Amino acid sequence: MSIFAVKEQMDALVAELNQHTYNYYVLAMPTIADYEFDKKLEELAKLEKAYPEYADPNSPTQKVGGDITKNFVTVQHRWPMLSLGNTYNEQDLRDFDERVRKAIGDDFQYVCELKFDGLSMSLTYENGILARAVTRGDGTQGDDVTTNIKTIHTIPHRLQGEDIPDVFEIRGEVFMHRAAFERLNKEREELGEVPYANPRNFAAGTVKMQDSKEVRKRPLDCFLYAFYSDRPQFKTHWQSLETVKKWGFHVSEHSRLVSNIDEVLAFIAHWENERFKLSYDIDGIVIKVNSYAQQQELGFTAKSPRWAISYKYKAAEVQTVLEKVTYQVGRTGAVTPVANLKPVVLAGTTVKRATLHNADEIKRLDLHEHDTVYVEKGGEIIPKIIKVNLDKRVSDVAIEYTTTCPECGTELIRKEGEVAFYCPNDEGCPPQIVGKIQHFIGRKAMNIDGLGDETIETFYQRGLVSHISDLYTLYQKADELKAIERFGEKSIDNMLKGIEASKQMPFEKLLFGLGIRYVGETVARKLARGVKNIDNLGKASVEELTAIDEIGQRIAESIQEYFSNEEHLQQIELLKVAGLQFEVQENAIILQSDKLNGKTFVISGVFEKHGREELKTIIEENGGKILSGISAKLDYLVAGDNMGPSKLEKAKKLNVPLISDEELLAMLAE
Ligand code: AMP
Ligand code: ZN
Repeated sequence: MSIFAVKEQMDALVAELNQHTYNYYVLAMPTIADYEFDKKLEELAKLEKAYPEYADPNSPTQKVGGDITKNFVTVQHRWPMLSLGNTYNEQDLRDFDERVRKAIGDDFQYVCELKFDGLSMSLTYENGILARAVTRGDGTQGDDVTTNIKTIHTIPHRLQGEDIPDVFEIRGEVFMHRAAFERLNKEREELGEVPYANPRNFAAGTVKMQDSKEVRKRPLDCFLYAFYSDRPQFKTHWQSLETVKKWGFHVSEHSRLVSNIDEVLAFIAHWENERFKLSYDIDGIVIKVNSYAQQQELGFTAKSPRWAISYKYKAAEVQTVLEKVTYQVGRTGAVTPVANLKPVVLAGTTVKRATLHNADEIKRLDLHEHDTVYVEKGGEIIPKIIKVNLDKRVSDVAIEYTTTCPECGTELIRKEGEVAFYCPNDEGCPPQIVGKIQHFIGRKAMNIDGLGDETIETFYQRGLVSHISDLYTLYQKADELKAIERFGEKSIDNMLKGIEASKQMPFEKLLFGLGIRYVGETVARKLARGVKNIDNLGKASVEELTAIDEIGQRIAESIQEYFSNEEHLQQIELLKVAGLQFEVQENAIILQSDKLNGKTFVISGVFEKHGREELKTIIEENGGKILSGISAKLDYLVAGDNMGPSKLEKAKKLNVPLISDEELLAMLAE
């Protein structure tokens, strides 16, 4: 094969794999089998190895986890993980009830549960310790994702309680709460990453990530709903739920024990609208015969148990007319289309707008002017357009995604391999200017007291700030500040104090606050550690940058681009003059989180997976304090193997809780 042909083939593979990833995660419509996908990915990896000079730095082979399923160890399920029969209406359910009663008579109960919309997970415990977590896979075998699942705070690593069998399996649903989904997805978009279509996809993508450190940052939850063991342990499903709750498992408090199908129907009716008030998505209800003996009598079909069934809610859906498409410009300049709709009531709320995500979504829908569209409310707060009602099409003018910025008129650009279009005028485009300053003052960045998003908006409109550095000269503008309505002397004073205090914020926070594209919180921390000060960062070559842990080509290029802009350099100069921290303090502990704030620890013994120094750093970086000896004030003793007996005794006497290294890490995963 000629060199040109090789390069062409590699590029084609990259494009194709990126498209599949996008179809899967964004459109939630996979267009290729996982196996095919993995084969193509392997092929690409091979070529890249043979011809590294042609490897695309953005190649899907370079992405760590998340978007790409690489190989996890396959594990056979002890009991197959079946699906459930589905019903969609009352009659189907009454038929199910009829079949059950024919087989086991009238003397039985049902357990009604919510049908959580996530992914099912099988957990095996051995001697009270979580030994394995396996995905459903094809039902007979799944992937071993134990390391990732261990980051889920509500899944106990070690059980407490009585009569815990030596070996058992427990199954449940791993999911992400809607609020976490929306927050993290927004962060992804801001960093130019492909957002997930829904919490389920986000959870599924997370569980399959290669890097469990990354998984830790994405809060997942898990409800357990099925217990399996070789020796019979319980008489009823309900009893099993009650008991495993006592062992430390997260069991839904909404499950109900009922005695007939009418009560089941009442449960279903209750949750029809109530479900939107939950903090997570459910897509239906599961009904299970309570007694295990009766379950056994009913048995299984090839695909599903005869003693359980699910009822799926119809998506709340209405038709309405598209009035027009408008565009929102974010802090990073990403331009997001929004459908403005003729107001319509949907699942109890009035809907006027729906998100269109990006240009590809408009194409996928083949949206025309004044189309009548189907709008659906999933769990999401903002509803989405499912499809167009072609029978009601009135115009043959297709909606074209805008080519210029709706806010400043600049021509939009799209970077290769990215879905979003951007307005490149970051220093002159109003929402970007305001967004950037808002980002700077935000809680995760400079965390400036006494200043909020709306105030920044007002300041900008009044010409008081148009750059980050303007914040630090606000104190000279007392008269203009006083002239602002509802902005009293006290508020001004508070704000100025907050701004002054922010000058002491550590370098990594400042770096994050600058809002360099792709430089999120974690990246900023790694960079700060790696380069020590802003001048080094500005001078660093792509090679030097990518040598830093977790910094890839894309981030490195973005940093270089940032520092090649005169206006950015000028901002940095002004901020330096104002006295901000542009270098890492010597010996400073770079805080990763404040999850252990105010907690004290002693580390003792040896640990299989971590060094003691490493654990110490982890504790300090998350706000915890290391004490030299055990006292009654101590919060936790992190205990490894071969701990001195006197220490152990002292800890017991003083009632200091002992935790393992893994339990320590689990505290951070919260
Ligand atoms: P289906 O995928 O429609 O066949 O439904 C079966 C799946 O529903 C199971 O594999 C679980 O992942 C999920 N599920 C969610 N909530 C429950 C529940 N309370 N009981 C059993 N399965 C549930
Ligand atoms: Zn613009």
